[in-house]
Amino acid sequence: MLAMIERAGGAPVRIPAGRMLIDGKWCEAADGRTITVYDPATEDKIAEIAAGSADDIGRAVDAAQRCFESTLWQKMRPIDRGRLLEKLAILIERDADELARLETLDNGKPYFVSRNVDMQFAIDALRYYGGWASKVNGEYITLSPLFDDGGTYRAYTDRRPVGVVGGITPWNFPLGQAIQKIAPAIAFGCTIVLKPSEEASLTTLRLGELILEAGLPDGAVNIVTGYGQEAGQALVDHPKVRKIAFTGSTATGQRILQASARHMKRVTLELGGKSPTIILADADLDKAIPGAANAIFPNSGQVCTAGSRLFIEASVFDEVSAGVARIASELRLGSGFDPDTQLGPLISARQIERVSALVASGLDEGAVPLCGAARNGQKGYFYQPTVLTGGRAGMRIAREEVFGPVVIAMPINDLRQIKSLANDTEFGLGASIWTRDLNKAHLLAAEIDAGTVWINTHNVLDTSMPFGGVKLSGLGREFGTEVVHAYTEPRAVCMRL
Ligand code: NAD
Repeated sequence: MLAMIERAGGAPVRIPAGRMLIDGKWCEAADGRTITVYDPATEDKIAEIAAGSADDIGRAVDAAQRCFESTLWQKMRPIDRGRLLEKLAILIERDADELARLETLDNGKPYFVSRNVDMQFAIDALRYYGGWASKVNGEYITLSPLFDDGGTYRAYTDRRPVGVVGGITPWNFPLGQAIQKIAPAIAFGCTIVLKPSEEASLTTLRLGELILEAGLPDGAVNIVTGYGQEAGQALVDHPKVRKIAFTGSTATGQRILQASARHMKRVTLELGGKSPTIILADADLDKAIPGAANAIFPNSGQVCTAGSRLFIEASVFDEVSAGVARIASELRLGSGFDPDTQLGPLISARQIERVSALVASGLDEGAVPLCGAARNGQKGYFYQPTVLTGGRAGMRIAREEVFGPVVIAMPINDLRQIKSLANDTEFGLGASIWTRDLNKAHLLAAEIDAGTVWINTHNVLDTSMPFGGVKLSGLGREFGTEVVHAYTEPRAVCMRL
């Protein structure tokens, strides 16, 4: 069932084709439909994946529910669930080169990024969550009864897995996002049906093979590929799914939140952003200028925490914006398999149209490009790294998430404005502050409405640090100690002694 593809820089890549993982078995969509997958760097067809329907989701949820209720799963020692995740980490380590090539083929990102960032993140996250499996504790509570009836009242809590989880992931970090949903679900004793993005499902399917090899019980992890509005929506609507763990756009997150109300599903929503990078005049500009470029351009700007609004103190505005533009115009675009490539393509024709339209709206509203502002090349979905100035807070380009390599630079004329400039957005995912004055940095960090504020760095993620957004950037947190609450429910047991 696996086709080989030779295009990938000489090394053949195995393509998982047309199948989904349900109840520990590979199967085609019940109605046989498929989705064609294209290489975003060449626009060539590379694979067909199954277009799962509500029927397929139903079978997968039934399998996940059976596994969840099984004696095998209920009695499995937490430490052994952790060992399954460790085994999976070892298998990904073994196959990391091949998985990284597949990620690059499917998503377009440079191979060195797939190999050193995406694969390492997946491995680390499996180990991090594997450790959690045996560290879930309840509380012992002394009560204060309203009436003295001679009794002594105590309560304890235990944390129980929420049940079957529906995981839904986007295309920008496909394997890493899949692990981000699967690993905590398994660690905390849930089972899961995962619906990867139709734009980039191949490494998640390959992961399914490793999940079987690692020996997870049938039905513990099911992977159903398909369109969001069909398979994704069916997963969200399914009454037996007790929690949706979603990463994707704010618009889809809002739909999911509404639909989840019907069955009162638990949700974690990791959504979009319009994160500010704030550079003060006293910053070490030798670090802050490349730092601002690094905040926006990696993964061709397709990063939820991308620093897409660049606020620069007026006295250094020209120096910083020109510096970021110089770095942007020197970035090398190309095939992710070319070792010289620094930026790959955007994911799809739809995405390049969206980025082009938003940049055009910015130019119409008076923004001035210092570089870029155009597609790159005739083939593939490449967009030139773009730095715009002349920005004002009201412009669409300064308000909407672009999800491309585009930053709009705006001056800070009065330091007292920083808080209101940074927070003047519907989003609240990330922010970075660049200054040598750490006192100022911490005071400012406390004023910014964002899930993560970085100081003299940007986009540093770590599985031990809680991650998520405020405002339209989401609900709940993944990673860190917060993750326990996302996949377990406390049950209080109250007693009279
Ligand atoms: P998207 O919302 O279009 O799709 C995400 C996933 O949701 C896909 O699997 C899709 O098939 C599915 N989906 C679409 N409609 C659905 C529906 N009605 N019901 C259920 N599922 C549905 O997002 P995208 O374009 O794939 O990803 C880009 C977005 O993801 C950006 O907004 C980005 O900021 C966000 N993102 C956020 C984070 C974070 O952690 N906050 C991380 C990465 C990406």
